[in-house]
Amino acid sequence: MPAVGVNQIMTVTGPIDPSELGMTLLHEHLYINQGGASRRRNDDLIDEEMSRFKAEGGRSIVELTLPGIGDPEERLKAISERTGVQIVTGSGWYRNPVNRLPDSRMDPDREDNMVEYLIDEIDDYWSGDPNPGVIGVDRLSVSRREYWVLRVSARAQVATGLCLNTPAIRDRGLAQLDILTEEGVDLSRVVIGYGHDDSYPPLNYYLEIMDTGATVAFDNIGHPRMHESRVLGVLLGLLERGYREQVVLSQDLCYDDSLAADGYTDYAYLQREFIPKLLEAGVGEKAIHAMTVENPRRLLTRTM
Ligand SMILES: [Zn+2]
Repeated sequence: MPAVGVNQIMTVTGPIDPSELGMTLLHEHLYINQGGASRRRNDDLIDEEMSRFKAEGGRSIVELTLPGIGDPEERLKAISERTGVQIVTGSGWYRNPVNRLPDSRMDPDREDNMVEYLIDEIDDYWSGDPNPGVIGVDRLSVSRREYWVLRVSARAQVATGLCLNTPAIRDRGLAQLDILTEEGVDLSRVVIGYGHDDSYPPLNYYLEIMDTGATVAFDNIGHPRMHESRVLGVLLGLLERGYREQVVLSQDLCYDDSLAADGYTDYAYLQREFIPKLLEAGVGEKAIHAMTVENPRRLLTRTM
């Protein structure tokens, strides 16, 4: 099957020219269903949220709710068509891939099938279903099963060139990069997320990741549990050292109770609240543009 969308970015409504991407949140959830704790959003609420995001200059969202814990892509397509926000969807497996495929496909002895499955999904433009524009492996730690999911995703990345976005628990990003390197992944196509996690790794951890060529995502901006001043400190440290081309920002908003409608944050928090703090701390417009527009564009543009 020929590759689709080369030199373009795949959204749920079809491929777009990279110049159309604009300001992008690289790790969000519009609908998520993880069982008891999750709550779904109604269309009115999501439309309101998207128009607030747009009003602050937002253009695109990467919906990293992987199949199995998300909602049908047709729903994402409808949101995008109604609101004009471009949505890139992810393919891959959540860390505990119970819902993704029948158990028979989960057998580690059949990795090749899983790799094929991902590649087909990425390249099957002719079925009419929206194609994934990124490979996601959400919230990995280090269990054997998770490593296996990462290897499968890595092989699909090598075959398709798509960006691989893997939020890492605590300081596990380096261990993930070791596996990706073994699998021959071009690390400049990799985003290590959760650059904030509860343990707040030291600056050196991020520098080590960036020296491999990978990008770090600070993707819980605005979360009530996030220690914002510490994240700000690390971020400024990286920018001062010239790493602006390897940083992206996002919010990883999951549930209704994270939203402005209920008095918490919203999808426009980054633009409305956090970027002014960066400016105040002396970060230049060019660096902000790199982190919110240029870096997402480079990462999401299909290269092969
Ligand atoms: Zn997430």
